[in-house]
Amino acid sequence: MDFKEYIRVIPDYPQPGIRFKDITTLLKDGPAYRAAIEALKEKVAGLEIDLVAGPEARGFVVGAPLAIALGVGFVPIRKSGKLPSETIEASYDLEYGKDKLAIHTDSIKPGQKVLIADDLLATGGTIATTVNLIRQLGGEIVGAAFLIELGYLDGRDKIQGIEVSSLVTY
Ligand code: 5GP
Repeated sequence: MDFKEYIRVIPDYPQPGIRFKDITTLLKDGPAYRAAIEALKEKVAGLEIDLVAGPEARGFVVGAPLAIALGVGFVPIRKSGKLPSETIEASYDLEYGKDKLAIHTDSIKPGQKVLIADDLLATGGTIATTVNLIRQLGGEIVGAAFLIELGYLDGRDKIQGIEVSSLVTY
């Protein structure tokens, strides 16, 4: 399936000059959404995975169904102040703006093998922060899976040594 056909590009959103890749057009198509999750599952088939972790909000939309498809649990990584139990936090720069992510301290046990999932890899700031949080808890990152990768932003360089899988590259 050509997943690019299902992704809508919005010029100048959320800021002038950004060409936003809108995945809602893929998500609303049941067979395409399912096929995308199945395709990601196949891409990570060789990895040993105990948990999938994904940053809010679109990381949930990719990570949670991927976790179910793999038969493992899902760990949400949220914006600061949203998780109810004890957390650790880290701040980071976005392609546009700044943010802070948090994870429950008891969500990952030392040595657990974690696959990170998100909708899109841009500068890699979000994923590098996610990696940092998971490693602080002693999790071992076995890979990172994305629907979309913006190849021209070299996000992979921020997470060197981690196997990156993506379905669509711009
Ligand atoms: P990064 O931290 O790699 O620069 O940016 C990736 C994060 O920003 C992801 O969590 C993603 O959801 C969001 N993001 C940045 N640009 C886009 C875009 O064009 N489309 C979508 N769907 N998300 C984006």
